[in-house]
Amino acid sequence: MNYDCIIIGGGPAGLTAGIYAVRGGLKTLILEKMLPGGQIINTDLIENYPGFPDGINGQELGAAMQQQAERLGAEIVYDEAVSIKKDTNFTIETAYNGTFTAQTVILALGAAPRKLDLAGEAAFAGRGVSYCAVCDGALFKGKICAVIGGGDTAISDAVYLSRFASKVYLVHRRDQFRAAKTLVDKAAATSNIEFVYNAIVSAINGSNVVERITLTDTKEHASRELVCDGVFVAVGYTPHTQMLQGVVDLNANGYITVDNRMRTSAEGIFAAGDACAKELKQVLTAAADGAIAADSAIQFINR
Ligand code: NAP
Repeated sequence: MNYDCIIIGGGPAGLTAGIYAVRGGLKTLILEKMLPGGQIINTDLIENYPGFPDGINGQELGAAMQQQAERLGAEIVYDEAVSIKKDTNFTIETAYNGTFTAQTVILALGAAPRKLDLAGEAAFAGRGVSYCAVCDGALFKGKICAVIGGGDTAISDAVYLSRFASKVYLVHRRDQFRAAKTLVDKAAATSNIEFVYNAIVSAINGSNVVERITLTDTKEHASRELVCDGVFVAVGYTPHTQMLQGVVDLNANGYITVDNRMRTSAEGIFAAGDACAKELKQVLTAAADGAIAADSAIQFINR
């Protein structure tokens, strides 16, 4: 099937691009390999998306964006794009539904949680090690959890887990958080959250499930054991850009380089959201990127 625009990724960037593309008259397909909403479906409460004075649940916001894009006429196919080739049009090969062609492509591929890369981390995944507090938090009722990281995700996760867990350690490798001050203040005011500064996890230990982690002090280099049942890793993200080698320019960290119109290095291919090289990665900025990318695609087609 031939489209004016194929958007790869159905998070806030891709869904917003879909809304703008169809409203601009483009026959638009969104390819999403899992559930629409992207990373926000793992976020309990988003407090900084305008229009929701009490915050909004990530799944609810994702579902609302999906409904809006579909109501306006965007098609969504649940499949994974595996390659992009350029001939007269772009041909996108998918894992299960064959190929789709389009005049323009918007890459809204998002990013996946980064791992600590410790021995034993993979073996304990699902046995105490988690990369999604909202998905797994309820399993840790009355238990002790350690959240690793110092960004918005780590602090939000710690606050979320504090509702279930008896105790939450927030383990950060420095003595200053990069997370928003309001989030840090909220965590600091939560009685069962304890900040552990200047510490990295050097081992995850247990027999069948996680029983404790080894922390190494980044200043004194001394090690100590911390008893815990859950380890929630929140140390940033890696962009989903593996299939883009040779398609568009990526920076040294694998993020897509874009200009201020969200144009990539390849004519007719635009990008939006967390897979792009940029400073501020928020739902709002992903949505804004999506709007700009779609507008650029519309201009490209009308040219
Ligand atoms: P992030 O901002 O990149 O923070 C990653 C954190 O993990 C940093 O504190 C970093 O330490 C630490 N870290 C990285 N590698 C580590 C390692 N190997 N061992 C220990 N610690 C390590 O990632 P994020 O918190 O997932 O946020 C990603 C983006 O989403 C950000 O732009 C964020 O603002 C946004 N976000 C927003 C919200 C919201 O509510 N608005 C919620 C979640 C995420 P250093 O600080 O020392 O580098």
